[in-house]
Amino acid sequence: MGSARETEFLVTLGGRRPRERRLALLILVQFRGGQIMPNWAMDRQDGIAYWPTLPERVQELLVGDMEHLAANDYLERLHFDRVHRCPGCGGHLLNIREVCVECGSSNIENLPVLHHFRCGYVAPIGEFESKGRGRSCPKCGHSMRNLGTDHEIVGEQVRCRSCAISFDEPNVEAACFRCGRKTPVDQCVTMDIWGYRLTTLGHAAAKAGRLFEEEDERLFEPGATIYRRSVFLKMLRDDFRINQRYGIPVSVIALRLIYESADVRSAAERTVVEVLLETLRNVDQIGRFDEGVLVVKLPATDRDGAEVVRSRLAAAVDAIAGVDVRASHVVISDDVSVEADIARAISAPK
Ligand SMILES: [Zn+2]
Ligand SMILES: [Zn+2]
Ligand SMILES: [Zn+2]
Repeated sequence: MGSARETEFLVTLGGRRPRERRLALLILVQFRGGQIMPNWAMDRQDGIAYWPTLPERVQELLVGDMEHLAANDYLERLHFDRVHRCPGCGGHLLNIREVCVECGSSNIENLPVLHHFRCGYVAPIGEFESKGRGRSCPKCGHSMRNLGTDHEIVGEQVRCRSCAISFDEPNVEAACFRCGRKTPVDQCVTMDIWGYRLTTLGHAAAKAGRLFEEEDERLFEPGATIYRRSVFLKMLRDDFRINQRYGIPVSVIALRLIYESADVRSAAERTVVEVLLETLRNVDQIGRFDEGVLVVKLPATDRDGAEVVRSRLAAAVDAIAGVDVRASHVVISDDVSVEADIARAISAPK
């Protein structure tokens, strides 16, 4: 699909119902190779465009849809960049510059600070009066001729040409090109910009030509065995809180699966899940973390019990042709840090 035809197609989406629109978006992302990233676009309010020729109103609608799809596990967010915006008008065209700490003027200069070896006096260059080819020291009155021999530069000071004061560190301020408002940089509005990538669930939905929104499908990926990412993370958070309150142990094991090739992935993952189900108890649950990582939750199981399960799972999955596995314990430190705790477990050495 060419870019002009894609735009035309997206504009027609504006008139459709949300579910239709979101499915069409998934299929489009799949067609584009599985991910979509924004481009910088100076003429847009927030400085980026996913589709540069698309009317801003339609893009807003579609960005809302991509966020919805990400919240429902069809897309995964990829960090693109962070943008500073003017708190006055929301514009992104900002002139960032250093200004005087006293009067706010940008008419400032950096001056070297000199050190006279003979008497040890240190001051900005302006205090040393010019004298012939050198300068003279205001403290001891001797002349200073050669940089490096009788004096050195030990640093810099900033001087404001507007109000004449000197200081060490200037302020950093953003001046808005649109509305003229001046804002200290740390008080600008910051906004994270995201790209989006299809998840396993997103691929399955694009292939099936429908979103999985029936009652069971809201919980599980197709096949009704693997919990959706958002659902499983919520279960882990809830379990952690209950575990804390009542002292009931729960263990979590992350399985990083490395497939021989992308072609064998979906068939091999089916085999992996069969093997997991044979090894696990009925009460144990399997959830999605990302394309290559499944997470297993073992209710009412302490660390020793979990270690037995971990090594058994690792051995069983390792025996499958075309799959390598790294199985690690996830130590959940807080209910808000569950995602980070899993990420840490799968990146730690075995
Ligand atoms: Zn502004
Ligand atoms: Zn000033
Ligand atoms: Zn001196």
